[in-house]
Formats: sequence, C-alpha cells, structure tokens
Amino acid sequence: MQEYFIEHPVAVGDIIELPEDKAHHAFNVLRLHHETVRLVYDGTAYFAEVYREGKRGLAKILSEDPNINELPADVTLCMALIRREKFELVLQKATELGISRIVPFVSSRCVAKDRQERAEKVMARRKAIVVEAAEQCKRNRIPELVEPVKLSELSRFRSDVNLAAYEKAGASALRLKDVLPASSVTAVIGPEGGFSEVEIEELSQNGFQPVTLGNRILRAETAAYYLCSVIGELCQ
Ligand code: SAH
Repeated sequence: MQEYFIEHPVAVGDIIELPEDKAHHAFNVLRLHHETVRLVYDGTAYFAEVYREGKRGLAKILSEDPNINELPADVTLCMALIRREKFELVLQKATELGISRIVPFVSSRCVAKDRQERAEKVMARRKAIVVEAAEQCKRNRIPELVEPVKLSELSRFRSDVNLAAYEKAGASALRLKDVLPASSVTAVIGPEGGFSEVEIEELSQNGFQPVTLGNRILRAETAAYYLCSVIGELCQ
C-alpha cells in the first residue's frame, strides 16, 4: 500500500484534495483507481480511498491506522559528507532503519564539497530522498534533515548516549552493546578518510565516546548501515 505524508490535519469521513505531486504519483505513476493508501499527518496515519474527479485527485479518509512504525528511541545520525551517491544512499537507508534526524557535517578529510551556490538545490534533493524513503517504508514521521554543519558544531545535537565510530578505537574499546539500549542516541560517522587524531580528541572532549564497530575497517556508508541497524535492534 502506498503512503503519502500530507500537510494539513484530517479527520475520518473527510474528503480532501491530494497535493499535486502526490496526485500525480498516485494516478499517473501508480495508476491507482479507488484504491486504499496510507496518509500520514503529524505522526497519525489514516487509511484513505483515492480517486479522480475531473482533474482533481481526491482522498476519502476511511479510518485511522493505529500502527506506529517508529523506533522507540530517538536516534540522530551525524554523517560526514561523503561522495554524493553514497551519501544519498545513507539518507535513504538510515530513513528506512528508523533514525529521527540526520546531521550532515564537514570535517578535514571530506572529499565531497558542499558548494554554497547549489546548497538550496542539494537540500531539496536530499529532502525528497528522505520523504520518499519514509513513505516507502511506511514511517509515521519524516526524519529531520539538518543543514550541513562543521564537526565542531556537532555538540548541539547530543543525546543521552553520544558515540563517535572510530576504527582505531582498539580491541578494548567500547562496543555498541556496552552502551545501549538508551532512549536517545547520537552517533557520528567519519568520511572516507576517517577522523584525524585531533578531530577524535575534539569529539571526545565534546562528550562523544569513541566506539568500535569491529575489527574490519568498513566504508563510511557501511558503518552507517551497521550502526543504524544495531541501534535499531538494541533499542527496541
Ligand atoms: N580511511 C580510514 C577508514 C575510514 S572508514 C582508514 O583507511 O584507516 C570511514 C568511517 O567509518 C570512519 O571515520 C568511522 O567513523 C567508520 N568506521 C569504519 N570502520 C569502523 C570500525 N571498524 N569501527 C568504528 N568505526 C568505523
């Protein structure tokens, strides 16, 4: 069943007009015809029958869907800006895995450049990826996508448990199972080239504990999938 996030409150029995982009998707892409979709407003989901009336796409709200498909924990993923395709995959997968917030950041070894003149376009594209992924996996919330920040600004996004994934943390380092479950977690993942020693020191001083994800050095995007999956499992 297709899901769409909507921007106005609704009640059972209402007939609403679908926003143009959602109507286009429902009727021109999926070719739905009097079928049921899941509409979500501000965390509450409804079943609705969608149909066309002339040029308009309408939805009749049938009932509330009591299922809430969110993680019990509030998870913030601070993800270094890695190459575009990889970063976009992380946005999609982290959304599917249930995180609440994505904070892109720049550090000294980032190879990707977030060029200022394209910032608005890039943000819109990233936002669309997150919304589409949230709809695809039937979430009740669209993860918050924060504007890119510097590594030194990450302390603004701290939770109850704060971790920095560090491949040189050593065999005796903290592991995810040592610190989880928790009701809120912030996890930081470095770029392709990793963190410099100065950076990991700065992160530790800002309260982010270095954590190992095992003996193998993972690609940054693999580290993100691993972290989000394990956090999801341990914080159920
Ligand atoms: N260039 C570095 C590796 C960077 S891996 C090197 O070759 O030594 C990219 C990011 O993924 C790292 O900054 C870290 O946050 C995370 N990462 C990868 N493997 C990890 C591991 N085994 N434990 C903890 N973090 C890891």
